[in-house]
Amino acid sequence: MRFDIITLFPEIFNFYFEQSILSRAQKNKIIKIGVHNLRDFAFDKHKTVDDKPFGGGRGMVLKIEPIYKAVRKLKAKKSNKTKVVLFTPRGKKFNQKMATDWAKLDQLILICGRYEGADERINKLVDEKVSIGDFVMMGGDLAGLIVVESVARLLKGVVGNSESLIGERITPEKGFVEYPQYTRPEVFETKGGQKWRTPKVLLSGNHQKIEKWRKGHSKVIE
Ligand code: SAM
Repeated sequence: MRFDIITLFPEIFNFYFEQSILSRAQKNKIIKIGVHNLRDFAFDKHKTVDDKPFGGGRGMVLKIEPIYKAVRKLKAKKSNKTKVVLFTPRGKKFNQKMATDWAKLDQLILICGRYEGADERINKLVDEKVSIGDFVMMGGDLAGLIVVESVARLLKGVVGNSESLIGERITPEKGFVEYPQYTRPEVFETKGGQKWRTPKVLLSGNHQKIEKWRKGHSKVIE
């Protein structure tokens, strides 16, 4: 699967994607990630990507032309399993079901906004407008990282033994189960002498009881 990210801050992504699992997934050719500087698609020699809003008001707005040019260039011509996503706090809230659906695509183009957002005519270019929560950030870059992380980890071969998906999934439709985990030491002693213990059932070796305990403490993420 291919991810194409349109951003004004490519360095943020390049550093992140060189780390750990996502780096390995790229080396193993399970995913391809292209990080594209929106300024490279600007039309003028000053590489202008923003302008004042018509009608006045605060801040600057991302211009439509560079975004249009970038999406046209990046969108895979041969596949219809491509989705163009714009990050905006006004969008549909991102969730695990969307990540699961998107993991079946060939390409995700992620547009990370800045300033006061993008010229509204961007709606003609995007398939979905997505928010990662009911708060406003300064840019969509972190949203882009979140989407790549959550979609990529669902692709076969991305997550190894260290973070198994087995047992976590009920069905792709119904969602995922997350339960509390513990690791050594069995008892952790704080500086003040408090003892923080691992639940005994997890140390019992009784797999039926462990499963039951996990079910009782699970949260299904839909
Ligand atoms: N009024 C703008 C709008 O409705 O898109 C908000 C601008 S916000 C200050 C700057 C950029 O940060 C947005 O264009 C968007 O890409 C990103 N952003 C901010 N909060 C976000 C959120 N909760 N989810 C996704 N992206 C967000």
